Amino acid sequence: MAKKYTAGCACGAVRFEFNTDPDFVAVCHCLDCKKASGGEAATWFGVPENDFSLTQGKPTAYSYVADSGGKLDRNFCPTCGARVYTSNLTSFPGLVFVQLGSLDRPGAVTPKLEMFVKRRLPWVRSLGLPEFSDMPH
Ligand SMILES: [Zn+2]
Ligand SMILES: [Zn+2]
Repeated sequence: MAKKYTAGCACGAVRFEFNTDPDFVAVCHCLDCKKASGGEAATWFGVPENDFSLTQGKPTAYSYVADSGGKLDRNFCPTCGARVYTSNLTSFPGLVFVQLGSLDRPGAVTPKLEMFVKRRLPWVRSLGLPEFSDMPH
């Protein structure tokens, strides 16, 4: 039986699922998220590694050192190029960060906070959620 949340890339080659209801759901305006997503911000959330099941396909992982100095792997579908999740974060051991847009039902998860709002572009309106200038602490 599938887990509560199912997700995947745009073409369906990479599929994964998890049961955890995400509590840390961030809209992140940092430069890394801008560059990696190609958009103004990225929306993502943490899922415990031991609940995260890759059920189909083999994402291509690109290793990257973030501004913070922490290392991480960005995982993309090798067929369609969609970014699906981030893993092996030295700053957050035991967590996988899932890109909200990869969910089959992205409306099932809503953001809880905005972070790196110091990088938020002037044309973006506040979501009215708790805001953090940098990383929440
Ligand atoms: Zn794909
Ligand atoms: Zn970010």
